[in-house]
Amino acid sequence: MDYTPAYIELYKRGDLQRGADSLYAILGRCSLCPRNCGADRTSGEKGRCKSGILPVVSAYHPHFGEESCLVGRHGSGTIFFTHCNLSCVFCQNYDISHLGRGEEVSFKELAGMMLSLQSRGCHNINFVTPTHMVYAIVQALRIAIPEGLCVPLVYNSGGYDSTDTVRLLEGIIDIYMPDFKYMDAKTADTLCNAPNYPEIAVSAITEMHRQVGDLMLDSGGIARKGLLIRHLVLPDNYAATDKVLAQIAQISTHSYVNIMDQYRPEYRAKQFDHMRRRITVQEFDDAVDIASACGITRLDRYR
Ligand code: SF4
Repeated sequence: MDYTPAYIELYKRGDLQRGADSLYAILGRCSLCPRNCGADRTSGEKGRCKSGILPVVSAYHPHFGEESCLVGRHGSGTIFFTHCNLSCVFCQNYDISHLGRGEEVSFKELAGMMLSLQSRGCHNINFVTPTHMVYAIVQALRIAIPEGLCVPLVYNSGGYDSTDTVRLLEGIIDIYMPDFKYMDAKTADTLCNAPNYPEIAVSAITEMHRQVGDLMLDSGGIARKGLLIRHLVLPDNYAATDKVLAQIAQISTHSYVNIMDQYRPEYRAKQFDHMRRRITVQEFDDAVDIASACGITRLDRYR
């Protein structure tokens, strides 16, 4: 399929500037994500995500460990943002998400990272943990697009996204790649202090699908546009995997779903029941069987 990212047309129409203005207004009393802190990030105040206006980046490079449809031959151009609005107790990257490892950069420098990744042949720009950084992303795009940025943009989030904010990203993001972590409010409360995670994720992912539809690949098997959902299976079905998969099937049985088996007890995980061991082969196979029973056919098994 021929595909030109919609953000180029958006830029030409001046709508990217309008999007940046809308996001900046939200930052003045921040409700960019469902934490709804109310921090005035425009005057240096920081909310729960410990973030101001400028982006903080821990690393950027071609990544070959993502889904094959993102990696292709030359890699997915990942940009890892520091801090996180969800902060799971078992985060594998807790030094970045919780402890804040990273360097503050300007919008121009962020734009330069995107262009550098594209010039190295990456098939996309993959924003990792972008939720609290969407204003910086849009500002950097305004610099990168006239310099020639033209690859699809991937929004790689934890799924704890405000539906209103996702609406503002319509036409900017080509590929949404949210986690869908839990459908159990108690688990979400225990592990992320976010008991409303299930309804927030359902609403945000439904909006993402409305915007971009099911994942579309080009003739070389590279993702161009659409929704790709990740789900990490936890021990003892603690994430309520059966309910997560049933919900995904309600959004679309053609959803591209990566069921992941790599849970391991990192950071503070061993302090919590159900979280002290890896999953068994049987638990993973059960999850795959449930997905099939729900009618989900596009499975990427990450094992
Ligand atoms: S983006 Fe950060 S400051 Fe804004 S509501 Fe979310 S956690 Fe709070």
